[in-house]
Amino acid sequence: MGDYVNRLMAQLVAKNPGEPEFHQAVQEVAESVELALARNPRYVDAKVFERTIEPERVVMFRVPWVDDRGDVQINRGFRVEMSSAIGPYKGGLRFHPTVYLGLLKFLAFEQVFKNALTTLPMGAGKGGADFDPKGKSEGEVMRFCQSFMTELQRHIGQFTDVPAGDIGVGGREIGYLFGQYKRIRNEFTGVLTGKGLNWGGSLIRPEATGYGAVYFAEEMLKTREETLEDRTCVVSGSGNVAQYTVEKLLDLGAKPVTLSDSGGFIYDKDGIDREKLAYVMDLKNVRRGRIMEYAEKYPGVDWTAVDPAKHYNPLWAIPADCAFPSATQNEINGEDATNLLAGGVYVVSEGANMPTVPAGIEAFLDARILYGPGKAANAGGVAVSGLEMAQNSARRAWSRGTVDERLQTIMQAIHDTCRRTAEEYGVAGNYMHGANIAGFTKVAGAMLDQGVV
Ligand code: NAP
Repeated sequence: MGDYVNRLMAQLVAKNPGEPEFHQAVQEVAESVELALARNPRYVDAKVFERTIEPERVVMFRVPWVDDRGDVQINRGFRVEMSSAIGPYKGGLRFHPTVYLGLLKFLAFEQVFKNALTTLPMGAGKGGADFDPKGKSEGEVMRFCQSFMTELQRHIGQFTDVPAGDIGVGGREIGYLFGQYKRIRNEFTGVLTGKGLNWGGSLIRPEATGYGAVYFAEEMLKTREETLEDRTCVVSGSGNVAQYTVEKLLDLGAKPVTLSDSGGFIYDKDGIDREKLAYVMDLKNVRRGRIMEYAEKYPGVDWTAVDPAKHYNPLWAIPADCAFPSATQNEINGEDATNLLAGGVYVVSEGANMPTVPAGIEAFLDARILYGPGKAANAGGVAVSGLEMAQNSARRAWSRGTVDERLQTIMQAIHDTCRRTAEEYGVAGNYMHGANIAGFTKVAGAMLDQGVV
């Protein structure tokens, strides 16, 4: 069966050249899925996995807009509709200069398995644009979002495809996107999630990915009869996921000590407390400043700028118990993983998508630490998006307590499913195989039921 993965990967690379992140994501899942294929020849005969790696539909479009100086700007927009086997396409939009088709295919592919794990009826998609919101005025961001939605609106809908936020797309952008959708389509529907609270959004949606990653870590620790209390935690990023990871860590008595952005990272040995977190939220969400300013404000905090000459990230060499990578893909390389282990880290819960390279994952699995892969650990965000859709359909708004309780129940269910599946397939303790196989078998069952489509 090793041959199966080799053949599949050779075809995938030939057919999708220049898309290394997509190749990496498929390779990881294929190695897990091989275990399921060996037990169920129907998956092989119906070429279920081969169909899963081909998007159902991809749209790529021009996004023209006019900047504050009156100059015409042109960006490229995308929506990758990967799988509708178990529900409408669902997944975020990313606005970042590094966005290209291959990056969104990797993210949409990950979303297939993640969404299946949530227990909710959601298919998978991902989209975005190579637009950089950094340094743009409010007016520029609004005009860009309106132009982007002017095309995207033809392809989405509450029963078809329901986008949400991701890197560079937060509450502000979702507002502008929703406004333009409503204006063109003349309908007020739950076509996007992550909406504002007074116009159809759900309580706990902004918090959900970060909270969920911490709940997942807590579940993994429970298997060793431990908790997060008094654990020192390194966190990367300082956006949506990182902020609410820190908030939930504080709720559970842990001590977060780092945050980062693309400029570098801060190390606060005394711990990031609630007052400092409030400062970060204002800095990042309102003033849209840089995390370096934290070190200028609070004495005794170390600031380390990104050094492109270094082939490792010193953030991951800080001694700690738990790590919550919450910035971006491939932010932990093999050397970083070795440094994390040497620094005492024995819990890794991935808030970001695919933050660890394959050599790093191998190091974590070999060391038999508690390693929670992104598609399980960060599924809380899309899970609460699913709950937002349910509330929109019912025209109801649930309380904060209700949504948080459901989020916790879902994260526990995801953890149990991954753990049980890993045991069932003879790889106990390997949450990566557990997540990949459990997500795949759910989608594969639906695909078999629905015929060759
Ligand atoms: P965000 O609010 O835009 O924050 C992203 C953070 O990561 C920022 O601090 C950003 O720094 C940093 N970052 C982004 N790209 C980077 C790069 N290439 N190098 C170094 N730092 C980088 O985004 P987010 O929603 O928190 O998303 C973070 C991660 O979580 C992503 O992998 C995303 O796919 C994943 N995720 C998000 C959700 C969700 O609900 N939002 C759900 C599941 C998974 P700069 O500002 O300097 O760029």
